[in-house]
Amino acid sequence: MNKNLDYYCNCFSQLKVYKTHKKGDALNKPVLLLSIIELISREIIKDNHIIISDILIETFKKYWELTTTHSFKGSDFALPFFHLKNDKCRFWHIKYSSEYGGGRPQTIPKLREDIDYAYLDDELFNLIQDDSARKELIDAIMSSWFSYEENIIEDLIKINQNFQNEISEEEVSKELQNLDGVAKINPQWRLKNTLIRNAFFRKAIVRIYDSKCAFCGIRVTKAANQNIVDGAHIKPFAQFYDSRIHNGIALCKNHHWAFDRGWFTADEQYKIIVSRGLEEISPHTKPMKDFHGERLLLPNKEQYFPELEALQWHRQNIFQG
Ligand SMILES: [Zn+2]
Repeated sequence: MNKNLDYYCNCFSQLKVYKTHKKGDALNKPVLLLSIIELISREIIKDNHIIISDILIETFKKYWELTTTHSFKGSDFALPFFHLKNDKCRFWHIKYSSEYGGGRPQTIPKLREDIDYAYLDDELFNLIQDDSARKELIDAIMSSWFSYEENIIEDLIKINQNFQNEISEEEVSKELQNLDGVAKINPQWRLKNTLIRNAFFRKAIVRIYDSKCAFCGIRVTKAANQNIVDGAHIKPFAQFYDSRIHNGIALCKNHHWAFDRGWFTADEQYKIIVSRGLEEISPHTKPMKDFHGERLLLPNKEQYFPELEALQWHRQNIFQG
């Protein structure tokens, strides 16, 4: 078996999560992996030695609280750290300490006593260094998130909103620190954890639009984690830090690119306006300019529609008339 990106995406989308009665899936393993990927991307974990550090536990705890309804216990972290080695693909390895005498550590102090560090397959560790591979791996982990279909959109929206509230709380505490009246915004703190936050945003938007492009209607998926449609921000995240559902729209790769460059936009009736300057040859599919005047393909529920104010901002600031 070739240990490439596809292989690991497959491993991650089939992570074995334990079922608990009434509470749904036990998401310890996905939360642990997301925490580790985040710390690798922030270069806090620099080599392939994953020690049981305070920052790893804090990161786990934060994601645990943002994404599940259970309060955090030490065993929520200790057990997946230990048991991930038994997952089908065997990408997670453990370096036991000389103290280890068998059994499974259920608390964080015991885990620290028994284990020196964990490490990933080198192939996987290298893939996580790469921005676009990392994004796919995160999306694959998230496909193990909801193995039951019920309430999935509501749950995703709630998680997405938790992340958004976290931004607002950070903002408030930051502004309190600026009592001189000048709220200097440092993008560093706002962009922290953007990786995982935006993964939930993408997943929620794509679900709400039933994996279809709002412009052309295309829907192509393969396996649980490969999708030609993206969750796009209408007002750019890097500028507005707005990952609410109302600042999102699902678009295929082509139309996401075109929308970000202002090749089309939508009016207050959600009708498509296509830029006049496009030179287009499209022998096998409907040309973009023929979509002019058609209504965007929106979610079933009006409460999930894009905000008119965001579209207006896009028309005024991004659209090339
Ligand atoms: Zn499209």
